[in-house]
Amino acid sequence: GWRSRAAFKLIELDDRFHLIRPGQRVVDLGAAPGGWTQVAVKRGAARVVGVDLLPVDEVPGAEIIEGDFTDPELPGRLIEMLGGRADLVLSDMAPNTTGHAPTDHLRIIGLAEGAFDFALDVLAEGGTFVAKVFQGGSEKQMLDPMKKVFTSVRHAKPPASRKDSSELYVVATGFRPERLADLP
Ligand code: SAM
Repeated sequence: GWRSRAAFKLIELDDRFHLIRPGQRVVDLGAAPGGWTQVAVKRGAARVVGVDLLPVDEVPGAEIIEGDFTDPELPGRLIEMLGGRADLVLSDMAPNTTGHAPTDHLRIIGLAEGAFDFALDVLAEGGTFVAKVFQGGSEKQMLDPMKKVFTSVRHAKPPASRKDSSELYVVATGFRPERLADLP
């Protein structure tokens, strides 16, 4: 079985956007307890590395790094573990909420933007980036730079995502590294 309800969100996103393809190299940011990592393996990715601050029980077919995704050594280490740049960077990261709304809001923005920067460091040409964002949060200010370096940027709210939550996912496909010079 799947380790998390969140697994169904990736299944639904993948059914709709065909994100995971056989032979791919995949990074799963915010992997604990491991549901998305399981789905990536099950759907045929060749190499999957999950990253989380929290420990993740072994997922057969995947490797796990316990640590912060902002560790400056992580991109290099991941590319080595994957045997090349990533075809797909997934981020279902969410901050621990403090209950102090402005703080929580800033943390959410920071995670989504950080995941985007991280994706730029590790993705191969033509690669895909999927991240959890929040309506009225990071989403808008990230959109312009994303559209510059990806062929297509879409939003999706998978049915398994609670209707009353402001969570949604951004799905960016067709990474164009030659456009990086256009970013501010
Ligand atoms: N997709 C997962 C699954 O299907 O099992 C669920 C992910 S859960 C909603 C969000 C995760 O993001 C948490 O486990 C949290 O520890 C992780 N996270 C938050 N900030 C992080 C950071 N700076 N570096 C790595 N992981 C982080």
